[in-house]
Amino acid sequence: MKDYAWYKAHGICWTCREREAMQGKTRCAECAELIRAKKNYLYSENAEYREYQKKYLKEWKSRNPEKLKIYESRKSEYNRRYRNGY
Ligand SMILES: [Zn+2]
Repeated sequence: MKDYAWYKAHGICWTCREREAMQGKTRCAECAELIRAKKNYLYSENAEYREYQKKYLKEWKSRNPEKLKIYESRKSEYNRRYRNGY
């Protein structure tokens, strides 16, 4: 079985194992583009999710001010304990 080093040494794309790799790269242009697009897609999805989480948390805080107080007090309690090493 041929491994990563073999493909790299022979200048063949490691991802599709068919096309020639770009100069100084381990992937061909097509695979590089595909992976770039995939990364961009994942990142944009995560950005949306993060935005959603932020919005949800803000809403939750405004809807539950007394719960937030408890949460905050517990957090400071936790921090105090953590600092004192219990
Ligand atoms: Zn390729």
